[in-house]
Amino acid sequence: MSIVIYNSLSRRKEPLEPLTPGSVGMYVCGPTVYSDCHIGHLMGPILFDAVARWLSARGLDVRFINNITDIDDKIIQRAQETGEDWQAITQRYTAQYLSYLQRLQVTTVTDHPKATEHIPAILDYIQGLIDDGMAYASDDGVYFEVSKKAGYGKLSGRKTEDMRGGARIERHSCLHHPADFALWKRAKPGEPSWESPWGPGRPGWHIECSVMTNALLGPSFDIHGGGDDLKFPHHENEIAQGEAHGGSYAQVWMHNGLIQYEGAKISKSDPRNADPAFADQFKAQHLLDTYGPATVRFFFLQGHYRRPFDFAPQHLRAAGAALDRLLRQLGSLLDEPGNRSLDALMAVEVDAEVAQRREAFCRAMDDDFNTGAALGHLFAMAALAKKANDGDTILCLLRDLGRLLGLFQPGDSASGDRSEENTSSNDGLTPALMELLLELRQQARANRDFASADRIRDRLGELGITITDGPQGSSWSQHEPGS
Ligand SMILES: [Zn+2]
Repeated sequence: MSIVIYNSLSRRKEPLEPLTPGSVGMYVCGPTVYSDCHIGHLMGPILFDAVARWLSARGLDVRFINNITDIDDKIIQRAQETGEDWQAITQRYTAQYLSYLQRLQVTTVTDHPKATEHIPAILDYIQGLIDDGMAYASDDGVYFEVSKKAGYGKLSGRKTEDMRGGARIERHSCLHHPADFALWKRAKPGEPSWESPWGPGRPGWHIECSVMTNALLGPSFDIHGGGDDLKFPHHENEIAQGEAHGGSYAQVWMHNGLIQYEGAKISKSDPRNADPAFADQFKAQHLLDTYGPATVRFFFLQGHYRRPFDFAPQHLRAAGAALDRLLRQLGSLLDEPGNRSLDALMAVEVDAEVAQRREAFCRAMDDDFNTGAALGHLFAMAALAKKANDGDTILCLLRDLGRLLGLFQPGDSASGDRSEENTSSNDGLTPALMELLLELRQQARANRDFASADRIRDRLGELGITITDGPQGSSWSQHEPGS
């Protein structure tokens, strides 16, 4: 067995050589918990859960750490805006995040450390950097001195002499270099704070991750993952801190692609974000309710973790339809519990064509976790099962190969789990709500507000509801999203 991984640091694929043979330590940056979870927060856990599952399937003992940033400027700002206690905010959104991971069957995370649980270790770590001449105290906190760190910029390819902080330079004239970054921030009146040798304050974002990796995985560990947008400055700064602290920090850096919409990147300043309906499409709650957790998970795994993921609704519906075809073919086999080991699955006797697909599935996963190609081989096996005498043997094989990646669990459904609620526990409510929506839409049309009328129709369409306009007025019908 040899797994190769694309290492963002060396910019090439390398064989995975764990520091401790037989085990892998992996750290993936988690969310800052101050508002509703959006899909950007969940894609890392979903993608790296599949990575962890495959490493386990290959016999490695995986320790997977996914942190929670529960103290940060954004959290403080949110508390000031709303008047709510900052800890009430972080507890609520931490619970929300963890509940989504559960729905998505992200089960491989060993630990979700919180930054606020590691304050004493953060203080020690910063003191160590000061003692070694890598950091300095200033009037508003403590800063890491990037010019002292040989190789700073090696992950992102940026050079310190090109780094210009823009407005930041003027604000922080006390910095030795504009790229120096805060390890400790002095608290302003009324802000949450911890005592420190440099005055009451809070940790910077980057130091939290370096301290938590050190505490849970040691100064040198195997894999560090995160979104492509975290390469600079966050991961660059983590490396600088980690190496300055002593140790070689992460051996392999894995970066996942970011979300897109209809082929284009969505930046924070994208004007479409001002439209709540547009922004809603990326909220975790909306996606899980509309398409169902199994489809959301499948949507990510049918791509490749390093490429962008396009969240236009038609792509999610297409993923749901593809998954649905496979789940229908599995039929009652889906509800059989159990997970067979990869060794057991390799020993199942099948004909040559199916065996080739099984080999190809493993090769795709060993080659930088190419889940999209691996799923392609499962679909090919499903086609072979249709014309084979031992169709069920093949289907059970492909089901259990999929289960190695967390797919095809008993009870999985390709439609949102809300539609099921509508037909059972909420009997009668859906027709009443639909009547109300049709009435509002009719009113909008009467006022010649066709944009609103169309939006109601389109959003309902995404939820699997078709509106038909006729001479007697409008009617609605429900179909499965994606069909
Ligand atoms: Zn991080």
